[in-house]
Amino acid sequence: MSDNDNLTSSCCCSGSPQDLGTTVINRAATNLLEPASDETTCPVMPGTPVNKAAAEAAGLFRDYHGQRYWLCCRGCGPRFDRDPDKYASAA
Ligand SMILES: [Zn+2]
Repeated sequence: MSDNDNLTSSCCCSGSPQDLGTTVINRAATNLLEPASDETTCPVMPGTPVNKAAAEAAGLFRDYHGQRYWLCCRGCGPRFDRDPDKYASAA
């Protein structure tokens, strides 16, 4: 698994921006009542906004030590798995 990550290490967020972007937009449009509470940031790439519902729908999240972390893209999953303590403490 970690070997795969090398192939996409140039930029973890450039893999499939259209795919995730469409999901986020659609989900955001149906969550107008709670626009703020559904947003967080990716622990692997601090400052990158993540829509929780969209991330969960895409499988882009990790449960670690009873805490859930939402990831901005597929490239961040293996990175989080490789060093979860680093990213969990930074979140
Ligand atoms: Zn990412």
